[in-house]
Amino acid sequence: MMERQKILVAGAGHGGLAAAALLAQMGHDVTVFETKAESDLGYDWCDCIGMDCFDQIGLPRPDDNAYTPMKAISYFNPRKTVCIRTKQREPASSFVIDRKVLVRHLIALARESGAKLCFSHRVHAAIMQGSRVNGLLTDSGAHEAALVIDAAGMDSPVRKSLPASCGILREINEKDTLFTYRAYFNDTGAPSDLPEYSAYFYHRGNCGFDWVIREDGYADILVASFGGINETIIDNAIRDFRADHPYIGDTLLRGGSCARIPLRRTLPRFVCDGYAAIGDSASMIEPLSGSGLTMSIRAAGFLAETIRSAQDFSTASLWPYAYAFFRSNLSSILRQETLKDVMLHMGEHNIDAMFEKKIITIKELGGGKQSASDILHKAVGTLTTPALIPHFTRMILRGKRRKTLIETLPQQYDAQAIAQWERAYSQF
Ligand SMILES: Cc1cc2nc3c(=O)[nH]c(=O)nc-3n(C[C@H](O)[C@H](O)[C@H](O)COP(=O)(O)OP(=O)(O)OC[C@H]3O[C@@H](n4cnc5c(N)ncnc54)[C@H](O)[C@@H]3O)c2cc1C
Repeated sequence: MMERQKILVAGAGHGGLAAAALLAQMGHDVTVFETKAESDLGYDWCDCIGMDCFDQIGLPRPDDNAYTPMKAISYFNPRKTVCIRTKQREPASSFVIDRKVLVRHLIALARESGAKLCFSHRVHAAIMQGSRVNGLLTDSGAHEAALVIDAAGMDSPVRKSLPASCGILREINEKDTLFTYRAYFNDTGAPSDLPEYSAYFYHRGNCGFDWVIREDGYADILVASFGGINETIIDNAIRDFRADHPYIGDTLLRGGSCARIPLRRTLPRFVCDGYAAIGDSASMIEPLSGSGLTMSIRAAGFLAETIRSAQDFSTASLWPYAYAFFRSNLSSILRQETLKDVMLHMGEHNIDAMFEKKIITIKELGGGKQSASDILHKAVGTLTTPALIPHFTRMILRGKRRKTLIETLPQQYDAQAIAQWERAYSQF
């Protein structure tokens, strides 16, 4: 095990805070620089997380009363002719937690473990020594470190400042970005027959998905769109929801703000000499659902385990972190990315056809084994809708590429083999 090393974490992202806690527990000298004030951290709403990520990395979960099982979601096609009601999973694997409570819990863990937390302290860029990341330039000047962990989110100034020689993608482009608006409104108490958790694909023809969730005393609205979001899109979505779900009141209770999600497969490379990215800064996200919390907290465990047995912080020593992350997530990331691309390219009419001809069913959306008759039914539905055929062909081809990528992920550090794998992954 390495002796005590100076480690800097850029941004109090979820994976970064979990890594700070684990590395400080291992005796390293860890400092987190976060641009926001402590009280401003965490979105002003609740989100979903697989709580067992805490058990897996050996950190305590938040208090039991801080989270509740996620309820089953019902899905509507664009023209709302079909509603697929999924069933609640037993035992629950996904839980809903207030984002402010979650981040406070992670901050407390990092602090109790001995990490230093510097709030209202902006990071400007990485400091380089040749092609090695040697520290961070922050509001308080230059700070050297043996390792920089980049947990500053999708627009990380650290990742953006890396020279091309590091081989890390600096920009996450707009076509891979989901633009969201989230708000809680009062519940007027008006009756509604529609499901309490209702999600809509291509809601009002807008490429993306929206939801309305009826909780105790409030309605939670998400408007999520590719290619940008504006007041007209938001107003139209909310007006339409109010027409269908009459309990949505006019009083804004929480949220009411926009945020972006990097909705693309994880960056092909997220480690280089002296540097490891975690969370949204590396696009560690499920490309279909937009969930990144569970994945980035689990990644903190992989990073800590790698550092526990590393000789130094070279790219080669950090590769086991990338390998463990991909080994654990690659299959589902590539499956979700394939589905996302199909949904995006096929357009609303084809999605309507998929719902109406039962090509998409509860089994695709809620999980479950496909029977032979399910598959036959889907094949007939597809063959009688010629517009779907190119999309399905593309999906099958991508399925083959996915299998090859999983099989060829290099376990040992071999610069050439990794570069070759990254090229294939980038072209997926
Ligand atoms: C509407 C919405 C709903 C979502 N729902 C879910 C869900 O249900 N489940 C789920 O798992 N995920 C969900 N996500 C995604 C989730 O929010 C992210 O994947 C998650 O926050 C992980 O990101 P992160 O912690 O790496 O980065 P972030 O949460 O972006 O944190 C980055 C931190 O770095 C700080 N920072 C940025 N720049 C600097 C700088 N220059 N200097 C210092 N600090 C800096 C930021 O202030 C921030 O605190 C949702 C996202 C949105 C927008």
